[in-house]
Amino acid sequence: MKKPTICITSLTCCEGCQIAILDLGERFLGLAGKIKIGDFAFLEERPESETFDIAFVEGAPITEKNKERLLDLRKRSKVLVALGACACLGGIAEIKDYQDKNERVRYVYKNIESIENPDIIPLRDLVKVDLEIPGCPINKEEFLDIVKKLIMVVSQGLLMEQMPKPAQRPVCYDCQLKRNVCLLQEGLLCLGPMMLGGCGAPCPSSGYPCDGCRGPLKNVNPDNLNRQLIKQGYSQQEIDMILQRFGVLEEIYPMPPSAT
Ligand code: SF4
Ligand code: SF4
Ligand code: SF4
Repeated sequence: MKKPTICITSLTCCEGCQIAILDLGERFLGLAGKIKIGDFAFLEERPESETFDIAFVEGAPITEKNKERLLDLRKRSKVLVALGACACLGGIAEIKDYQDKNERVRYVYKNIESIENPDIIPLRDLVKVDLEIPGCPINKEEFLDIVKKLIMVVSQGLLMEQMPKPAQRPVCYDCQLKRNVCLLQEGLLCLGPMMLGGCGAPCPSSGYPCDGCRGPLKNVNPDNLNRQLIKQGYSQQEIDMILQRFGVLEEIYPMPPSAT
């Protein structure tokens, strides 16, 4: 069986999703016999392979260099996987798009003349993405499971359509399995009912409401949850501010691109 050549790389981000992969330790190294590492700069510095069977890309394509890298990776990779909220949704950097983004940039840089300040977009707005692994950071167990399935798909020459799809279940499903007390019923602003589960609900399990780092369920209708939260005393603005945190607001209510 042919060993797939893998690339794991970053665009603009905190690189926390790659750290989650490294955190798998020996279990990730255990895959080494089944794959060929074509590029994983975190693990070793060496010239990258010319082509990849699977490219995992974390981060958002913010700078022109990021965009060129992403387009080039797409041309050179059979399967391209978006890793984490930055790559799947735009992520935390997208907060500035919901406000005056030039003013936000001035908080960080004194001289903004040479600063690229485009709208923040997920990978799929620029290239074809075959699979998205959500989360901020990704769930390392989910990553490992998906990598094993992808290796099987690629090395057996199957089509990506034959890749098992993650279940469209809300975070509440994971939360109920943990027998957590429901924070929404306790009056907190928890977005779990409309967010994609599979994370194991670590936030509600620790007493924090779900902010939706894994993005919304497919074709979700936010009206019921909005109505319930407004009845509980929250304003739409408060709800939207949480939805802005990982770039989820634009997934639910698409916005026109703003001027740079
Ligand atoms: S998704 Fe979160 S952990 Fe992953 S790179 Fe982006 S900010 Fe970092
Ligand atoms: S705490 Fe949040 S995620 Fe958990 S069941 Fe309640 S609404 Fe759902
Ligand atoms: S509970 Fe919500 S915020 Fe926490 S990891 Fe899961 S999806 Fe992300």
